[in-house]
Amino acid sequence: MSGGILSVKIALHRALVASFSSQGLPLATTGTGLDAPAQLPHHKVKYKKPAQRACNEKDAKNKLCGGHLKRWYYTEDVVEQACGDVEKAWGAAAEVYRCEHCKTLYLPNPAEPPSRNVAGQGSISTFGLTLPPKDSK
Ligand SMILES: [Zn+2]
Repeated sequence: MSGGILSVKIALHRALVASFSSQGLPLATTGTGLDAPAQLPHHKVKYKKPAQRACNEKDAKNKLCGGHLKRWYYTEDVVEQACGDVEKAWGAAAEVYRCEHCKTLYLPNPAEPPSRNVAGQGSISTFGLTLPPKDSK
């Protein structure tokens, strides 16, 4: 058996592998942080998976929370305004969702296109918010 052709193929293969691995494609993705966004002092923060609707937090007994994730308009929530964490960290108009059960905050996944549900600031459902008195400004 002649090993000539085979050894050429192997050499070629090695060259290819070497050129690929030297061309970038970093093996360690540093600091993507997809599972753990920056935490806020008074809130647990997670990233929402695309199309995720229910909270996947686990409680002390390792049971899934399962609470609904709702768009959370924190600038209209007087409880949050007393805290102020969210607005300080993300500004006044960030897209944030909150578990109605355990209050974990969910940021939209960076890979997910922004919500198409742009109903305009005038028609926000105030369900679940603690509203300030109308004459507060
Ligand atoms: Zn939850």
